[in-house]
Amino acid sequence: MDITVKFLGSNDAVPDVDNDTVSFVINDRTLVDTGWCAVHNLRRNGIDPLEIDHLLFTHFHQDHYLSLPSLLFYWVMNGKNLEGLRILGPAAEVHQVVKRTVDFLQLERFFPHLSEPIVIPIEAGDTYEYGDVKLSTCASKHTVPALCYKYTHKPSGKQISFTGDTAWHPPIVEHVKGSSLLIHEASMGTQEVAPDNPYAHSSAMDAVRVAEAAGVDKLCLVHARTAYIDDSLKRARQLFSKEVFWPRAGQEVHV
Ligand SMILES: [Zn+2]
Ligand SMILES: [Zn+2]
Repeated sequence: MDITVKFLGSNDAVPDVDNDTVSFVINDRTLVDTGWCAVHNLRRNGIDPLEIDHLLFTHFHQDHYLSLPSLLFYWVMNGKNLEGLRILGPAAEVHQVVKRTVDFLQLERFFPHLSEPIVIPIEAGDTYEYGDVKLSTCASKHTVPALCYKYTHKPSGKQISFTGDTAWHPPIVEHVKGSSLLIHEASMGTQEVAPDNPYAHSSAMDAVRVAEAAGVDKLCLVHARTAYIDDSLKRARQLFSKEVFWPRAGQEVHV
C-alpha cells in the first residue's frame, strides 16, 4: 500500500450531519481542501492536525476552505510555527485567501512570535515535489480558477488524481491517465448537463466519461448531496465496467 486516502467528507457545499463537504488526507500528511470542520474531522479519524505538512486547495469556494482559520488557529494554540504548513492553491487567489485568514485570526497581534504559513502559488500545468511525492496539475473548468491534481508516489510510481469542482473538460482526461484512482466530482447527480452549464459542475455520467477515457482502475464520486448518491452510483455502475464508489466519512482507500 503506497498511497492511502482517508476521506473526511464527501458532500457538496453544505455538510450532512455525519458527512462533511469533500475533503481527504493522503498518506496522513497531505490534506486536500478543508471542508467545514477540518480539525474535528482529522482528530476523530486519528490524524494529528499538527502533522499535516501540505494543504492543497483545488479552488477557493467557501465549502473547500471554510475551516482554514480553525486549522491555523489549532496550530498556533499548540505553539507551532505555521511555516511548517505549506499551502498550495490556484496562483490567482491563494495568497489573498491566506492573508485574509491570517488577518482574521489577528496572528500578528496575538501570536507575533509565531511564523506564518508558506504559500505556494500553483498555475495550471505546474509541477511541485516534496518528500516522495510529485504533484502535477491541469486546469479544471469551474467558475473560479481551479486545479485538477495528479499525485504520484515517486518510489512506486503509483498515481491518484482528483478534479476538484469542474464541468466536463477534455484536457482532464489526458492529465489523469495512469491513475489507479480518480476522485471526481458529481454534483449534478444523474442530470445531463452541458459542459458550459452555469454551475460548472459535472454529472455522474461526466465523471464516468473521464474515468473510462483515461482508463483509471477505480472511480470515486464526491461532491453531491446525499439525496443524489444512490441514483448516481447506480447510473455510474451501469456505464463503468470497473469499481465505482461513494466514500463515507472515515473511509480509507489503499492504492
Ligand atoms: Zn464545491
Ligand atoms: Zn466550487
